[in-house]
Amino acid sequence: MPLQASDGIVCPFPALPAPAATIEVAPGVFWLRMPLPFALNHINLWLIEDGDGWCIVDTGLNSQPIRDLWLALRAGPMLGRPVTRIIVTHYHPDHIGLAAWLAGQADCGIWMTAGEHRVAARLFSEDNQVRTDFFRRHGLAGEHLAGMANWGASYRRNVAGVPPDFNVLQDGQVLRIGAHDWQVIVGRGHSPEHATLHCSALDVLLAGDQILPAITPHISVWHLDPEGDPVRLFLASLDRFGELPAQTLVLPAHGTPFTGLHPRLAFLARHHALRLQEVLDACREPRCAADIMQVLFSRRLDSQQIPFAMGESIAHLNHLYHKGELVRSSDAAGILRFQRSGAP
Ligand SMILES: [Zn+2]
Repeated sequence: MPLQASDGIVCPFPALPAPAATIEVAPGVFWLRMPLPFALNHINLWLIEDGDGWCIVDTGLNSQPIRDLWLALRAGPMLGRPVTRIIVTHYHPDHIGLAAWLAGQADCGIWMTAGEHRVAARLFSEDNQVRTDFFRRHGLAGEHLAGMANWGASYRRNVAGVPPDFNVLQDGQVLRIGAHDWQVIVGRGHSPEHATLHCSALDVLLAGDQILPAITPHISVWHLDPEGDPVRLFLASLDRFGELPAQTLVLPAHGTPFTGLHPRLAFLARHHALRLQEVLDACREPRCAADIMQVLFSRRLDSQQIPFAMGESIAHLNHLYHKGELVRSSDAAGILRFQRSGAP
């Protein structure tokens, strides 16, 4: 019987926190849930007691409803205490979105890795032409390519600002937050230098999007690093997190807190092995990423989902290409196609 997604996963907190309310999931660690206007309709944020104040981990998307929830929280008894610092796990808008605004409100510093800050600053300032061209070379055409024109502005809309000054988080660094030490473990593949925080005294891992209980973390190649191999980096990160104790309580950015870290890591590794095999099988004939997207995502995709589905397809193609299992060619129009190496 193949490993199922839920095998070995236990969710010890059946109830969800109400809007602008929290649930304590470990001593001094509180779960906060904010809405998202997407198919993925929520994000988990975390508050860690830090002396007489709060360390906030991730901030939610830049939207008025989420700003209102933060203001309600800060007016209430709990977050009425000062915010000592804001930790941003990675550059995606649902995580960094309100960091600059919240840091301004609370007059505190922001902590994130340099790799995440670099990408956030670039996406916040760039125009759309580069990415349209990138997707065109990977075979996207017609209405799907035209739809990319609107995608460019979404980062600036969903992120309130990227602070020029920040405190740099480093892999292996230990942060004293309140009564406990938290070690930064940098995960890779979902984003360049995704900060996760592990507290061995509490057996807790603040995992962000690096390890999720019910969905597989998105892995993309986009124009920012067109030759990148994030699948390799993600698989290597799975091994790294496998060194953490089996009983670790994982606090993910989506879904609910869970134990069963090791079975989940095994499931994610198997998921990507199967996807890579699907891509290899499809590449008996020369295929571009837009073809592979149809193989990997048989459901109908809306214009919001196309860039992610394309990015994921290119990531799996690039991985097989870098391993030497696919070769790549470019036609007269500059469209890239991949084929199994040794295929006639
Ligand atoms: Zn993310």
